[in-house]
Amino acid sequence: MKTYLQLTRHNGNSPLFLAVEMSLVSTLRGTPLHVHAEGLRGTGKTTIMRSVKQFLPLITRIKDCLYNCDPGQPHCPIHKDLPQEEIAALGTERVPVPFLEISHSAKIGTVAGSIDLGKLTNTSRPEAALLPGIIPQAHRGIIFVDEINRLADTSPEITDVLLDVMGTKPGRVQIEETGLPVVEVPVSVSVWAASNPDEEPGPLAEIRRQLSDRFDLVVPMGRPSTTEAVVDILLTNEAVKNEQSNGDRDLSPQEFKRLQKFRQDIANIADQSDLAMPEYLTNFLASIYINFNIESLRALEAITQAALLHAALRKRNQMMISDIMAVLPLVLYHRVSPATLAEIMNTVNNRMSSGEKAAYAVSPSVNKGGSSRFAQFFNRNSEKKDANTTGNDEQDDEESPPQKARYLRDALDSGVIKKEHDLS
Ligand SMILES: [Zn+2]
Repeated sequence: MKTYLQLTRHNGNSPLFLAVEMSLVSTLRGTPLHVHAEGLRGTGKTTIMRSVKQFLPLITRIKDCLYNCDPGQPHCPIHKDLPQEEIAALGTERVPVPFLEISHSAKIGTVAGSIDLGKLTNTSRPEAALLPGIIPQAHRGIIFVDEINRLADTSPEITDVLLDVMGTKPGRVQIEETGLPVVEVPVSVSVWAASNPDEEPGPLAEIRRQLSDRFDLVVPMGRPSTTEAVVDILLTNEAVKNEQSNGDRDLSPQEFKRLQKFRQDIANIADQSDLAMPEYLTNFLASIYINFNIESLRALEAITQAALLHAALRKRNQMMISDIMAVLPLVLYHRVSPATLAEIMNTVNNRMSSGEKAAYAVSPSVNKGGSSRFAQFFNRNSEKKDANTTGNDEQDDEESPPQKARYLRDALDSGVIKKEHDLS
């Protein structure tokens, strides 16, 4: 097994690494960010998404609460009305951010919740109680659905549950059982999904348009463009096959340490970042919404959320237009035509080049955070431009996080590069 940090990053898959990291940080901060990866079989989308389980940061919950109640804001049917002293008496525990999967054979009771048969058949004290399903148990975490296009086709009732979960932030889930009153629980869950639009029954957007639009980001998985990347993917697939027959190997101490460090990094970013979208950028996005006739306001919210996360992951304390540039294709992929997307990208790009002028024009009226901040932002931007005459200054930002260098080293250590020669 390769760790998340050792997976090969290439042009075709790096947006997915970015998307899952943004979503994890957002989840930790209490706002879900829903991600849908679309691509052919073998592009590694599920491997990347599932590997995130290796470095899930910890959250604090009321001890033994299956709904992951935050001790400061209990929300579950058992704890929400308890006085603060009683909550305190229950104690707390640290658990990893939940990462649960909805399988295609799942029944609605497993996904939403059902009668707790254990409690009902307890001979000394039988009681009718609810057993929360996968979704309420994933509160403050992530739900993963593979082949969501197939699920949307075959399980309309689970699709409806997902629509509720993703309809608002936080969303909600209803637990219904004959003989018990309907219970509605708020859930803050990021839904991650994967699908192959070329396989039956086709792209999600055509099966359930509404569900498709609930995803904040859609990441089209591209092909790797170098032989090294291709070889690496083949080797990973081979290793996964072997492990399925031999069981998982243990991580080496170094691998473990690196993952720990990465986990801490993500947790720190989520803890520390308190970026806000500057007002002039909000105005700019609003004008894009109107001028390009974008169908849903969700798109604007998603651009704002994702761009802030993009800046946070780069450990910057200022938003840049390049943050918007980096996330636009992921937010708009499923919402506008490719031609419109290109036009919007152009508009944003133009705005970026004339940025300095704009900063001075807007700063006195809209910049409540102090004009020096904007001046600094644009100075930095123009410095970068001067240094890079191609004008392609957002390129740096679209690359993978700083860990990137490590992967190459790992690849050399593990002999991946050598294998390429063997093959050619
Ligand atoms: Zn609880």
